[in-house]
Amino acid sequence: MKIGRTRQSLQQLETWTSPEVQNHDREVHKFVIIPLGSFEQHGPHAPLGTDTFIGWEICQRLASKLNGVTVPPVWFSVSEEHMDFAGTITIKPETFCDYVSDIIFSLARGGFTKILVLNGHGTNETYFPQIYAKVKEGYKGELNLLLLSYWTALPIKEREYLCSLQWGLHANAFETSVILAIFPSLVRKVKNCSHFPDVSGLDVKDLDAIHFRSLLKNSNGVWGDPSKATLRKGQTLLASIEETLSSYVSGAFQLSGTVVTSETPD
Ligand SMILES: [Zn+2]
Repeated sequence: MKIGRTRQSLQQLETWTSPEVQNHDREVHKFVIIPLGSFEQHGPHAPLGTDTFIGWEICQRLASKLNGVTVPPVWFSVSEEHMDFAGTITIKPETFCDYVSDIIFSLARGGFTKILVLNGHGTNETYFPQIYAKVKEGYKGELNLLLLSYWTALPIKEREYLCSLQWGLHANAFETSVILAIFPSLVRKVKNCSHFPDVSGLDVKDLDAIHFRSLLKNSNGVWGDPSKATLRKGQTLLASIEETLSSYVSGAFQLSGTVVTSETPD
């Protein structure tokens, strides 16, 4: 990431000053995005930050396309199902919900009335209703809040590629392809790391965190076949996510057009 008053950094709130936030033009910077990630094992081949890297990349693309601004990602979330694997960090659900809603409150108090929370980790979705409820209870001002996972608007076929019994559910070809497209050097060359747990008779929709954890226990942490990943697939998936999600968010926030900021770097 480059720090400086470049066009890119104008989309990163950490480079703004407080008066710039105070006086920001809502027609120029139309909404703020909070990326939600995870810090958890992704097999022997992909980094612990996989979910965060993917979500963050999509947030930056959306900010650029729709004139939003991002805050740094929430790296740590609820990953209890991966605690059998070293390096995973998990946060208690209550702490996580409090933490995310406190970020939302702070941004709303700073004058942002359109806030998108963009999630990159499946388990976090479970807590969307609690976060919505906390915000509704704790903030009475004008606020248009949208909590979304990046796969929400994907066509069914691509969603299955991310999460299905056929393609796997974790550190699979989908996630590995996207990381290859973002940070190719972070994907390790590991032979034979394909792994599909025995799930006869299981419906993915019925899978909870405890069951998920037991299915991955004593394995390499993969559910899928990462050898099917390619950088090109990752680029195509990212482009598809960017397109479908930007029209979804644009509609939800009633953004008019895809305006490019008029501010110039100095
Ligand atoms: Zn993941």
